Amino acid sequence: MKKGDSGRLDRIVAQARRDADARGQGYREKALKIYPWICGRCAREFTRSNVRELTVHHKDHNHDNNPPDGSNWELLCLYCHDNEHQRQVEATSGGSSGSVGGPVSTHTPFAGLQDLLRKKPPAK
Ligand SMILES: [Zn+2]
Ligand SMILES: [Zn+2]
Repeated sequence: MKKGDSGRLDRIVAQARRDADARGQGYREKALKIYPWICGRCAREFTRSNVRELTVHHKDHNHDNNPPDGSNWELLCLYCHDNEHQRQVEATSGGSSGSVGGPVSTHTPFAGLQDLLRKKPPAK
């Protein structure tokens, strides 16, 4: 019977999902217990009615690093959290290329710009 097999797989998947959920809920709830419900960037205050907009940011960007004292967590509102990650993306893509070797080419955007300028009709 194939029914048993797929049922077991379903259960494993469901369990894995539950585990991930539990892990996520776990650190969020702990962080909300340790820290005041205030965004660490814009100092916006939160209450029970809008606390869902307050997120737990991992300072080292490692979601598996959840020390019980909360030293890797920072409570940020959705907007500041977004900002924080945007900065991180820009820092890693533009700045230090680390061990990859060879700098990222900075010529491409300027070449594109020159192309655009050439296509533009001359000013009156
Ligand atoms: Zn904020
Ligand atoms: Zn984050």
